Amino acid sequence: MRGISVLVAGAGLAGLTAARELTTKGARVAIIDARDRVGGRVFTVRDPFLRGEHAEAGADLIDESQTEICKLIAAVGLRTAKILPGGFTAVREVRGRRRIGGKHAWQELEKRLRPEVRAFRLSEQRWDGGVAASLGRESVAQWLDRIGAPQGLRDVAIGLRGFFLADPDELSMLALADQFAEEGAPGGEQMFRALKYLKKPTVMVRFPDESHDLSRTGKPWHRVERLRHLVGWFDKYLLNQGGEAYEVQ
Ligand SMILES: Cc1cc2nc3c(=O)[nH]c(=O)nc-3n(C[C@H](O)[C@H](O)[C@H](O)COP(=O)(O)OP(=O)(O)OC[C@H]3O[C@@H](n4cnc5c(N)ncnc54)[C@H](O)[C@@H]3O)c2cc1C
Repeated sequence: MRGISVLVAGAGLAGLTAARELTTKGARVAIIDARDRVGGRVFTVRDPFLRGEHAEAGADLIDESQTEICKLIAAVGLRTAKILPGGFTAVREVRGRRRIGGKHAWQELEKRLRPEVRAFRLSEQRWDGGVAASLGRESVAQWLDRIGAPQGLRDVAIGLRGFFLADPDELSMLALADQFAEEGAPGGEQMFRALKYLKKPTVMVRFPDESHDLSRTGKPWHRVERLRHLVGWFDKYLLNQGGEAYEVQ
């Protein structure tokens, strides 16, 4: 791209990454931003603190599944710092002492949410279906009242504000069920291993570059192939028909 000049509007992550790639390819790049700083929604606040502490006003968490940003981090010689070793949780004050909820608090929420998450998964996690409409009518606070949640569970739900930027009375059950339905994705592999362990006929089909969203947003030919696998499996194990495609050892 030598000899080409590009003007990038916006010095957020997208603009800066685009500018970096264009520059690598030889283009002359200028970036403008409406603000007087770069970074966009990524913004570390350092000012009011006295002892070098800082606060993140925007994005700060990088998941291992965010492969592109992980590549960029390595390419510019940065490194990530592991946080939340016990997973996302909540801090409660019990008789004046701070206690970290721990994994079990999160697991308790997951357990109580199972009926909603199961219904949502069965509806293929569609946001335009009846299950979504019914979930969307209830706030997390209403749900906690409905199930007679103990204080500990309510505290965990309040702790979700760090994740959803909303308190239980502002957070829809749809967003919560969707999050848990997504998080459950790696469970597919656990299920596969469990079934193998029980010596049940099991086949895991992996699609390259696809996520748990394959059935909704995956590449069309992957979605067709997924359906073929499902139907093939049912033919073989429910109807006793079909070929040897699933000869399981
Ligand atoms: C509170 C919060 C927490 C988040 N946490 C995470 C997280 O933990 N992990 C994660 O991966 N993501 C997180 N995100 C999302 C992440 O911040 C964004 O996906 C990402 O920063 C978006 O980058 P961007 O370059 O597309 O947009 P932006 O960062 O919004 O950048 C756009 C830039 O364009 C400028 N601009 C807009 N219009 C014009 C114009 N007309 N002329 C000139 N300049 C203009 C803006 O000033 C801005 O600087 C979080 C977001 C928020 C708000």
